[in-house]
Amino acid sequence: MNRLGNYPLPSLFFAGLLLFLSRLQAVRQIKFRLHTQAAKTTFQTLFGKASVPHGDTLNATFANLDPDQLGVLPTSMVRTLIRKRVLEKGRFLRRFYMIAIDGTGVYVFHQRHCEHCTTKTHNGKTLYYHMVLEAKLVTSDGLALSVMSEFIENPNENPSKQDCEIKAFHRLAEKLKQAFPNLPILLLLDGLFAEGPVFQICRQNRWEFLIVLKDADLPSVNQEFRNLLPLNQENTKIKRQEGLIQHYSWINDISYRDTVGRVFSLNVLECREKLADEHTHRWVSSQKITPDNAVSLAKAGRDRWKIENQGFNTQKNLGFALEHPYSEDPVGMKVYYFLLQMAHTWGQLCERGRALKKAVPEGFGALKNIAFRFLEEWRNSSIVAAEWGQLLNLGIQVRLDTS
Ligand SMILES: [Zn+2]
Repeated sequence: MNRLGNYPLPSLFFAGLLLFLSRLQAVRQIKFRLHTQAAKTTFQTLFGKASVPHGDTLNATFANLDPDQLGVLPTSMVRTLIRKRVLEKGRFLRRFYMIAIDGTGVYVFHQRHCEHCTTKTHNGKTLYYHMVLEAKLVTSDGLALSVMSEFIENPNENPSKQDCEIKAFHRLAEKLKQAFPNLPILLLLDGLFAEGPVFQICRQNRWEFLIVLKDADLPSVNQEFRNLLPLNQENTKIKRQEGLIQHYSWINDISYRDTVGRVFSLNVLECREKLADEHTHRWVSSQKITPDNAVSLAKAGRDRWKIENQGFNTQKNLGFALEHPYSEDPVGMKVYYFLLQMAHTWGQLCERGRALKKAVPEGFGALKNIAFRFLEEWRNSSIVAAEWGQLLNLGIQVRLDTS
């Protein structure tokens, strides 16, 4: 333990969170950016150790942890926000929490990195991946908060069949139901998930779903939709807004029999949008479509993109450096992944919370400027021990600014 400098585990997690909260983008930056006298004093006050750990100490410790124990933390953050009713305004139809599930590549290597890498071979060249299936709670006003993550990885170098997003979805769905057994959920999924086994999981778990329906998927459903559309002219709605014309049409109760004979009643919604170009979006849903909810449903379908934009894109390209290997160790990299998710949730709540808006009415301009101000505060903090005591005893209330 001496090798690790006897840092209490919470102090290492805290340093790991600081790494992401201040968007340092590399573990070794901790040494250069966070090792100020003020920061050391703060560590002494908070953890009884008058120094900030080095990145090497974080790496050596994180490689020996059980990542599942950290994986429950983003879930419990979201659970607290739901219980405290912070996210109620962002629900679909004021009832359903929208959970978008999507996979993304975290690391890609040109040589085998570990026995758990999944592989893809293209033109005789094999690449080695670490991927994750993320469930993020998205709100109509733009948040994308990590609820839970399922890593897509093989059990060994030569599995009979590789792990994949669909297999990971089955594992993640089970954990999601366990974590939120009674939460009204609308799952937002991309076209990959438009299939019987996924519909069946949603039916069993009493989840509503809205899944992208591509032309090539569920051919019988697409065909039925096209056949019935001309006969159901009343199932349409047109919305015009600032030059954008949206033409909604839908067919309810299309019967679908999956490959093992289970029958599902599906509802299909289409939205044709015309601004400069024309785009068509189509979804299959468990929600019966009406003139009253068609527009909201299509908006929820577009909210799914938030997992791409506010979620993955921010984490990859706007300062969190998701694809940077903070640790080469297959366990350590998961620990960093979860710390990143927690830091991102914290950042979004800061950005959108009323408290910070009141304190800094001129605003920050961008989420990464909050990180910059945070880093400056951390490096130069003049909060003394007695004040930390008071701060830690304060109840924290998060209220989102909805103006
Ligand atoms: Zn690997």
